[in-house]
Amino acid sequence: MLSNNHDEAGAKEEYEILVPKVINQMRKTGDWGRYLDPILSLMGYNETLAQEYFPSLESEIRGKNWNWFTTENEPKIKATTRVPENINEVDETICNEIFACRATGKAYKILLQELKFYKLMSLPLPSRCPEERHKERLNKRNPRKLWPRTCSNCGVRIETNFEPHRTEKVLCENCYLKQIY
Ligand SMILES: [Zn+2]
Repeated sequence: MLSNNHDEAGAKEEYEILVPKVINQMRKTGDWGRYLDPILSLMGYNETLAQEYFPSLESEIRGKNWNWFTTENEPKIKATTRVPENINEVDETICNEIFACRATGKAYKILLQELKFYKLMSLPLPSRCPEERHKERLNKRNPRKLWPRTCSNCGVRIETNFEPHRTEKVLCENCYLKQIY
């Protein structure tokens, strides 16, 4: 960027002197080229995907001086209402209410867009908070592990995250593509 401003030019010179110093220092400490230290993260470890793939205990995370999210400082909302069972019995006023999660008791709301979608699809209102629903979806995923198996169609050896004892048909890529297209 071109500038006639002397202050900016000074800042640029200063920047160019500082950058190699910072890089040198980071190379010495082994931090150069790595992700920023989790100590600098504003999110709690348990609020991130890290907790889903590498579950850790609060004590382990706090021991490393990383952030851990707790509800201690969250506003306390008294929610005891349960969602009505029949979607046809509710209107938009339901979006003003606060519900208690059936699993954890945590307060949650129904958004207008959500309500419209449930009505369109004739789906019941969710009785669990969004975090619980996310957990349920995660639990339905296959493990992040590969097993050697053979293609159910042509018998070629493949690796799959469907465990060997599972009864679903598991196809190699070729057979899968032939079946789909
Ligand atoms: Zn095959």
